[in-house]
Amino acid sequence: MNPFEHASIPTLAYLALAHSPNLISALILMIGAVFPDLDALAKEHRSYLHSLLVFAPFMLLGWIVGGYPLLFVLGWASHLFLDFFTGVIPPIYPLSRRGWGLSLRLWGGVSSVHFGVEVIERYPEPRREYRLDVGGGFAMFLIALFVLIARCTNL
Ligand SMILES: [Zn+2]
Repeated sequence: MNPFEHASIPTLAYLALAHSPNLISALILMIGAVFPDLDALAKEHRSYLHSLLVFAPFMLLGWIVGGYPLLFVLGWASHLFLDFFTGVIPPIYPLSRRGWGLSLRLWGGVSSVHFGVEVIERYPEPRREYRLDVGGGFAMFLIALFVLIARCTNL
């Protein structure tokens, strides 16, 4: 999943659920939502910042403190949730590099449609050059931005 999608999905959820959303809160949520992909700068993508072992103490702290720190870790949580369905997350990295995810697939044709669920298990990918097709994610981000402006300015 690309950074635009990671930023847009929790922001749209926030804008749908918040009684009086504000720009700063949405921005902090977005930063938390893309923050784990700083792992891409490390030796392996989906490593430390995608680990539940690393995430759990921050989630607890955010829960206790509330406010902006909570929004940041909720963004982080949404990232891990979404990555679980688009690859793997290594729950106890660095103790184990093994990650798990869930692959959901639809296939078929005119006469039939099938649905499949598969648990995937693999190791984080080594760092490499990234080339992402971000067109759909960018469109989603523009929609989130429009809704954000509309909700925060009462358009
Ligand atoms: Zn990620």
